[in-house]
Amino acid sequence: RKEHRDELYRVNQLAAKFFHNCLTQTEMGKPGLEYLQSRGLSKETIERFQLGFAPNNWDKLFRSFHERGIDERILIECGLCRKNDTGRIYDYFRNRVMFPICDGKGRVVAFGGRVLDDSTPKYLNSPEYELFNKGHMLFAFDKAYRTIREKKQVILVEGYMDVIGAHNRGVTNVVASLGTAYTKDQGRLLIRQAEEVVLAYDMDTAGQKAARRAIELLQDTEFKVRVVAMPDGKDPDDYVRNHGPEAFLELVAKAVSPFEFYLNSALISHDSNTAKGKEAILEEVFPLISVTSNQIERENYLKALALPLWLDNSTIYRMFRQYLTKGD
Ligand code: ATP
Ligand code: MN
Ligand code: MN
Ligand code: MN
Repeated sequence: RKEHRDELYRVNQLAAKFFHNCLTQTEMGKPGLEYLQSRGLSKETIERFQLGFAPNNWDKLFRSFHERGIDERILIECGLCRKNDTGRIYDYFRNRVMFPICDGKGRVVAFGGRVLDDSTPKYLNSPEYELFNKGHMLFAFDKAYRTIREKKQVILVEGYMDVIGAHNRGVTNVVASLGTAYTKDQGRLLIRQAEEVVLAYDMDTAGQKAARRAIELLQDTEFKVRVVAMPDGKDPDDYVRNHGPEAFLELVAKAVSPFEFYLNSALISHDSNTAKGKEAILEEVFPLISVTSNQIERENYLKALALPLWLDNSTIYRMFRQYLTKGD
């Protein structure tokens, strides 16, 4: 088993090298290099993250690895290759810029690959297998670890490019949960490193929804949690590129508490002057309050709703109790 795992690590490392070499040293990789440069990434960043390019070819990686005597079964196991109905082996990642995904020790265990245009699917990821469990890892944790410890703060974002774009401009305590929602296991990775988790998720519906899921998971942990709102731009990568790292760090400094985040966004999307609007606002804020087990904190939240909604405390308490029984 140990030998097998070592072989999987070796093959992934070789694949990262293959893609990186293709990106930086070959004519085939030029479109990939131009793409990454067009997104503002420096040579140093491309090196540090070992970014690569998967050639626009059905089985270039397979043939090259086959020649080196690497067993096709291992390539299939870690998701680099697949077998079609006729038994032919082909490369899973083709014509994409490649983001190696490393474990906490910096060993490559998987890849994300992005198309160069807006065709779909935009990203492909390695499937989960023995070395790669998405819920257990954070993208770039190995590269962010030191700064997270120093600052006692981690900035959690959604995408590969958000992480790389931030690191590219010197903001290095940034990691991403891998396309999926933030999980408790990912929290465990951070527990002794960070006191504070700052969420900087995309400003679209999916991102804001993911932020709520993360907040609710983080609510009863030791972490202090705050949420960034980006006044323009779709995500942290856009923001850092358009406004620079200092402006981004200012937003981080101004990030609000989960309660303010829920309340502010509810107040924006509903009319607090109507009964229906008030009800809708409460419906949006109650989920957060209900995952808060600290009694005093709960009370504070409920009381804080009275003023902006022009409601009596007793009404709010009654509606909250109703919400709780409905949820069961
Ligand atoms: P870019 O800036 O390159 O367009 P992004 O990171 O902003 O990329 P989003 O659409 O915001 O892209 O998606 C956030 C993250 O979700 C991605 O980085 C990726 O990890 C994951 N993701 C997005 N689309 C897909 C997909 N089709 N399949 C799997 N994962 C995806
Ligand atoms: Mn290199
Ligand atoms: Mn995005
Ligand atoms: Mn983006």
